[in-house]
Amino acid sequence: MIELRNITKKFYQKTKAITALSDVTLTVPEGKIFGVIGASGAGKSTLIRCVNLLEKPTSGEVIVDGQNLINLSSKELAKARRHIGMIFQHFNLLSSRTVFENVAFSLELDHTPKQEIQKRVSDLLSLVGLDEKHHDYPVNLSGGQKQRVAIARTLASNPKVLLCDEATSALDPATTKSILALLKDINKRLNITILLITHEMDVVKDICDEVAVISEGQLIEQGAVSEIFSHP
Ligand code: ADP
Ligand code: ADP
Repeated sequence: MIELRNITKKFYQKTKAITALSDVTLTVPEGKIFGVIGASGAGKSTLIRCVNLLEKPTSGEVIVDGQNLINLSSKELAKARRHIGMIFQHFNLLSSRTVFENVAFSLELDHTPKQEIQKRVSDLLSLVGLDEKHHDYPVNLSGGQKQRVAIARTLASNPKVLLCDEATSALDPATTKSILALLKDINKRLNITILLITHEMDVVKDICDEVAVISEGQLIEQGAVSEIFSHP
């Protein structure tokens, strides 16, 4: 479902180039939850941002749902990105809009009929457990509730793939558990393939089917979670 082939990403600064990713190849099979774990500065964030081309790789191929995203026109890329959802550590909600309006936003941009928006947003808020919060503003929500809104928002455009950029790193352990359970539920019920990056071993052990370990821009190990973490 997601294939990164020989991805290298260099950042050029005045006098030097930083190699953030070095010849990274990985495949995330359809329907799986795939985790990439590594220390701060290892290249996780750069890697996940290459999947939807928020960062353009210096070289290599990015294939999502059978389509090579490299060299698409900006219009084609915008279309492909609609099927690639993303959630973030700090949620990135619109603070001047209610929960309902945050989730409705992309549907409104698409000129979806009003009644359809009403039903779809209500269903999504129900799915993420926020039936009672339609009219609240983000500032009045807990971290876990904000992440639930962000998840509902990204599901509004029917993604096939969900990218999770340290999605639980700002949350306490109990809330982390509940958000991971929600992600697992979404993965199973909606058959959405999930790629997540994290620096927390417990996140990987909790929900991932497969894992890759990244260090200094290179994938140093990759396999089933049970195999990778059974090493002494
Ligand atoms: P992680 O997410 O694992 O903490 P990052 O992908 O953020 O790692 O960073 C990997 C490396 O690339 C680091 O050395 C970081 O300083 C560097 N880097 C990331 N983004 C940029 C950028 N926009 N400009 C220059 N260097 C960057
Ligand atoms: P950081 O990790 O440095 O805190 P992010 O990578 O989370 O920042 O976000 C960078 C910016 O890109 C954000 O302002 C966000 O709104 C925007 N952005 C995030 N996701 C997407 C996406 N899927 N498509 C387009 N733009 C996005």
